[in-house]
Amino acid sequence: MTNLFTINAPTKSSHQTLTDAQLYGLCKQYGHHALEARRKFIGLLPEVYKRHLYAQKGFSSIEEFAAKLAGISEEQVRLALRLERKFKDKPDLKMALTSGAVSVKKLARVASIATSENQKHIAEMAKVLPKSALEVFVRDEKSVPGHVNPQRKLPDVNLAENEKSVPGDINLLAHLDVDLQKDLLEREKKGIDINQLLKDLLQKHDEELAKEKQKLAKEAHAKAIELKKHGKKPSRYIPAAIRRQLQSEHGKTCSIRTCQKPATTIHHTQRFALSQNHDPNFLAPLCREHHAIAHTIDEKYFEKRR
Ligand SMILES: [Zn+2]
Ligand SMILES: [Zn+2]
Repeated sequence: MTNLFTINAPTKSSHQTLTDAQLYGLCKQYGHHALEARRKFIGLLPEVYKRHLYAQKGFSSIEEFAAKLAGISEEQVRLALRLERKFKDKPDLKMALTSGAVSVKKLARVASIATSENQKHIAEMAKVLPKSALEVFVRDEKSVPGHVNPQRKLPDVNLAENEKSVPGDINLLAHLDVDLQKDLLEREKKGIDINQLLKDLLQKHDEELAKEKQKLAKEAHAKAIELKKHGKKPSRYIPAAIRRQLQSEHGKTCSIRTCQKPATTIHHTQRFALSQNHDPNFLAPLCREHHAIAHTIDEKYFEKRR
């Protein structure tokens, strides 16, 4: 057993002498070990089941064995046995289960997208991603199968239909200023094609944004060269002009197409340590979950979804 009992809890009197920080520290340490031991115990169950060890030791079932020895629920036991069968042709996922490296809950979540080809990668993701990010990853992978499973492709028909459907609020016009609504209606009455007008305006706006972006990119590279010349390290802080540019382009939400969550971080899609600049072409506002995913997966995966 790894240092399960090496933590120095006070032996003399009671826990009353501990500071809040110490008490909380102990809770976290013990909790961590408890959860780890629990996962390891669950990982043993498939083998116990195969050997009928529970019966040899006088338990009526594997469920009773797990409940009495470790307080594991019937549901968890069955899930572990089911997953082990499912992972027969997926050695890395099977190892993640039997070694207790990953919880059955997380493994059950990724089981639906795992194949014998992508299983190694999926096992890695399940190990490093927190549960919420893993949920998002599985959902993304189901809607737009990509990087981890290149064989699966969405049929073209589906793509076309997705593009046609109106996303979000259909009564968008009702949100416009009354004056603006009047203006548009008047133009329409005069026979001006306001559909085309708005399309043109948006296109022009996008073109301007793109131009501004390239200008900022040039400046970012020039600045990086200048700093290097003087032997200075670039700051990790992203300049306000670039932040503004990103917000004009992506709004306040995550820049992954299918994601509506608020962006919490501006992620460097090229590692900042290597690129040493804030070229906005390689910056992406991401929500917490997609940011966690971004750090476990390569760029190609992300390019597909932006
Ligand atoms: Zn990042
Ligand atoms: Zn997101």
